[in-house]
Amino acid sequence: MKIKNVCYLPSGRVFLVEVDGFLIECTEMRDVAVDGKMHAEVRQSQDPHVIWKHLVPYEKKWLLTVSTQFGCVHDCLFCDVAQLPFKGNLSQKQIEEQVELLILNTPYVNQCNKVKIGFARMGEPAHNLNNVIGTIINLPMLSSWVNNNFNWLPCFNTILPRKVMGNLTPEEVLNRVIEVKEKNYNGRLHLQISCNSTDETERQRLFGNTEVMTIEDIIKQVNKTNITNRTVTLNFIVMQNVEVSVKKLQKMGLNGDKFTVKLIPLNKTMNGQDNQ
Ligand code: SF4
Repeated sequence: MKIKNVCYLPSGRVFLVEVDGFLIECTEMRDVAVDGKMHAEVRQSQDPHVIWKHLVPYEKKWLLTVSTQFGCVHDCLFCDVAQLPFKGNLSQKQIEEQVELLILNTPYVNQCNKVKIGFARMGEPAHNLNNVIGTIINLPMLSSWVNNNFNWLPCFNTILPRKVMGNLTPEEVLNRVIEVKEKNYNGRLHLQISCNSTDETERQRLFGNTEVMTIEDIIKQVNKTNITNRTVTLNFIVMQNVEVSVKKLQKMGLNGDKFTVKLIPLNKTMNGQDNQ
């Protein structure tokens, strides 16, 4: 694993890393506080000087992301990974080496109440489930040589494709992730399901015509399981003329004890711009 380039952003860094002759990305960022009157000025600003003033201290929160695949098999209209050729899964060791690389290259962070790590830089983690789950379970061990003062919050972000590599069903993926959430992390694992629209035809179009588990089926299945501490998040990127209906979600059985609905802005991507 060799660092080829580092891109500096106001809140952190993107590492471009060569692995087995292919390039992947992993990132380390600080959160930006945007709540309340005190942070009003940063909410509509892209000015780095303003952003720097509102960065959350490392001790409180640190945001990491790692890649799980070389490219991605899917073709989501809003994501730049979709443009890259797919070259297979990363091994558990290669995913863990990214975590170690980020920790080693940020030596001034040795204590943090919430290290939120997303398995969502490049790739759909459901297709590499065993290696991603293995890494999630190993996280406390990975940081123990640096410091034991890291509180990990693994974040499994998925579109829940109907056809999952390794002949798994999306229902099995959901069950496995929820099992690790409850058994290994005492409920403190963040399961985020990419939804984007309550209109299933529109959803499928946004995912580049990938068939995904319907929101109704997701809600039905999660409602049957025991969810503690962290609710399951249904993520909606808010886009013009794309339906997000709370009423529809409620009809499907949306339950506040099990779910959070999150509305997020669309990141600026080349693919997103090309697809308007
Ligand atoms: S959003 Fe996720 S699943 Fe879709 S193309 Fe990007 S990496 Fe793949």
